[in-house]
Amino acid sequence: MEVDRHTMRYKRCPDVFAVGDVAAVSKGKTAASLKWQVPVAVDHLVADIAGTRSNELYNGYASCPLITRTGRAMLVEFDYNDNLTPFFPGIIAHLEEL
Ligand SMILES: Cc1cc2nc3c(=O)[nH]c(=O)nc-3n(C[C@H](O)[C@H](O)[C@H](O)COP(=O)(O)OP(=O)(O)OC[C@H]3O[C@@H](n4cnc5c(N)ncnc54)[C@H](O)[C@@H]3O)c2cc1C
Repeated sequence: MEVDRHTMRYKRCPDVFAVGDVAAVSKGKTAASLKWQVPVAVDHLVADIAGTRSNELYNGYASCPLITRTGRAMLVEFDYNDNLTPFFPGIIAHLEEL
């Protein structure tokens, strides 16, 4: 579904929102992305119903565990602009095998 990549609003029918793998965003095809897409879509939906506006935006957050070798992996988290977006600073080190 063609959505605005920041609000998850369907372009062909603005009353409709799409999240998850079905949403045609350039990044964000992970379950971890859904965690950030859903609250944004819901906030816009609730604002629509209330006749107000939401400023919530989805930044393209995606998270991929990359298997580097047997028993080792790296968690890579990034946004639409390929900025690293660590969600677990101090717990999961970025760009480090764990
Ligand atoms: C091998 C693999 C590894 C992955 N690893 C990770 C990971 O480590 N971390 C991570 O964050 N993400 C991971 N992902 C991505 C993650 O699984 C998806 O982004 C996430 O499941 C998308 O959720 P969704 O609800 O949008 O779609 P889905 O989980 O695909 O759910 C869609 C549901 O709709 C159902 N459905 C389809 N058509 C119909 C129909 N006509 N009527 C009724 N029901 C229908 C399907 O059966 C399915 O249950 C992985 C994906 C794959 C394939």
